[in-house]
Amino acid sequence: MDIIIQKFGGTSVATKELRETVAKKVIETKNRGKYPIVVVSAIGRNKDPYATDTLLEFARNTYYEEESRELDLLMACGEIISSVMMANTIKSMGYKGIALTGYQAGIITDNHYGDAQVLKVDTNPIYELLKNDYIPVVTGFQGATEKGDITTLGRGGSDTTAAILGEAFHAKFVEIYTDVDGVMTADPRLVAEAKVIEEIGYDEIYQMAEYGAKVVHPKAVMIAKRGNIPLKIKSTLSNEPGTMIFHNETYTNPYNKNILEDKILTAIAHKNNIAQVNVYVEDCMEKNEILMNELTRNHISIDLINFFIDKKVFTIEEKNLVKIEKVLRENHFDFHIEKNCSKITAVGHKMRGVPGVMAKIVKALSSHHIKILQTSDSHTTISCLVKDIDTQRAVNALHKEFHLFK
Ligand code: ADP
Ligand code: MG
Repeated sequence: MDIIIQKFGGTSVATKELRETVAKKVIETKNRGKYPIVVVSAIGRNKDPYATDTLLEFARNTYYEEESRELDLLMACGEIISSVMMANTIKSMGYKGIALTGYQAGIITDNHYGDAQVLKVDTNPIYELLKNDYIPVVTGFQGATEKGDITTLGRGGSDTTAAILGEAFHAKFVEIYTDVDGVMTADPRLVAEAKVIEEIGYDEIYQMAEYGAKVVHPKAVMIAKRGNIPLKIKSTLSNEPGTMIFHNETYTNPYNKNILEDKILTAIAHKNNIAQVNVYVEDCMEKNEILMNELTRNHISIDLINFFIDKKVFTIEEKNLVKIEKVLRENHFDFHIEKNCSKITAVGHKMRGVPGVMAKIVKALSSHHIKILQTSDSHTTISCLVKDIDTQRAVNALHKEFHLFK
């Protein structure tokens, strides 16, 4: 049984016409003798009536509890609506579409509402349907506890559902359909010359996703890697081959590198809505400990961490601004927060051991008068913190400097 998971994002199922395009793709797969399992996200984005954010806003208009059973039940509605619409579209074309909630699809999770972990998948119900020529349309982003309480899988959860099903059913591929032609050398919304990357390894795309390339969720990449299932990222609207993700890690010999000739970077990723926190504290163990403990206690995760003798610098996501200001004030820390920043990251597994990459980055950004507020690096990434207003210029400058448009 050649099973193919086909996941369609919110914009891919937003209108009747789009749902018909999607149904045709699925039916075409079925007609090739394969067994598609469809996964759908909630219809639309942000302000659209059934989008996840709209439902959340609705809940927040009155009393609600974060990460609760009730909030998950509400948030799961978007995908339920979407799966019904999709299953019915398939039926209207003469095929046996059937909508399934996460629970009906056998996806069992723990009870960590809002960010549940999948514990197991009971594959029997879907296998039974496939054997009887059904095309299952599974709600993305949700599962259920053993008891049957609906849970959600956290942001990017529909990608996670697709990868989980891919692993459980030993799928030939997990295909993620979206509104761009594949994984690109930068976000095409920012860089007009961004190019589709035809093939990429799990580790490299994982890094891109972690550093902000939201075309696929990092958790889904991790699961696909664990199950050794190839992932394809494709456009709903075209028949382009898209990007193939598999075990394709290429580390070249650093001693043979000529940085000027070779394409050393794979992509430039970016992440908005970051704030840089500067805490002016003498190097005293007790104060450091209070700071760190308070951050942990308040679930504020920090990044780009630099400790100096007289100050501690790190970044946070701006959604945690209110929390951090409260923590720092209550503990009498002297601090400054630089708001509206973004982190630009050059990702490239070929840069391992190659000298001069940082120099090129600094040169490219300085020549565009872009101020670098902070940097950090690993063997395969270099990140620079810049002001939000410089994001697009910075991403473009690096994309050009490293010839990613070629
Ligand atoms: P979906 O609703 O289909 O899950 P997402 O909005 O989650 O779609 O992801 C697709 C978006 O990811 C694109 O519209 C694009 O703007 C953005 N994106 C960011 N970085 C990249 C990249 N490197 N390659 C492709 N798309 C990217
Ligand atoms: Mg997505």
